[in-house]
Amino acid sequence: MLVQQILKSKGDSAVITISPQTKVSEAAQTLAERRIGGLVVSRDGETVEGIISERDIVRSLAVRGVVCMTETVSEMMTRNPVCCSRQDTSDAVLARMTDGRFRHMPVVEAGKLVGIVTIGDVVKARLEELAMEKTALEGMIMGY
Ligand code: AMP
Repeated sequence: MLVQQILKSKGDSAVITISPQTKVSEAAQTLAERRIGGLVVSRDGETVEGIISERDIVRSLAVRGVVCMTETVSEMMTRNPVCCSRQDTSDAVLARMTDGRFRHMPVVEAGKLVGIVTIGDVVKARLEELAMEKTALEGMIMGY
């Protein structure tokens, strides 16, 4: 399955982005309100500058304490995150997420942000694909 099919199944919804100058406390609030685990960092909503995930915030809280909540997103984010394109396969995306140990991947086309896929989206797509393959194989074996 291609990333573009995953995005379509999610309804091609707009990606929630955050400015690098926003306070980490506000990023945490957005993550909680939107019930998501990561935010693409971008000033214009199109150019991917970084990514900040709940893990970055939890780690900083553990290492440096609550003072990290007053810092800006740019100080905590991962710069130049690994991105994929609409034409990438779910297998390739899953392999890159597994190797890199991250669960979010911005989708970029011609340098512009067009979506985001999570490991949950990719696993769901893969399971659906496997279920269809199973049904097709059963049909071939049973002769219908
Ligand atoms: P996650 O598993 O996505 O919550 O993120 C785990 C760590 O990887 C955090 O430090 C994130 O900032 C970082 N991260 C998340 N997504 C990506 C990505 N696409 N490329 C590189 N690093 C990422």
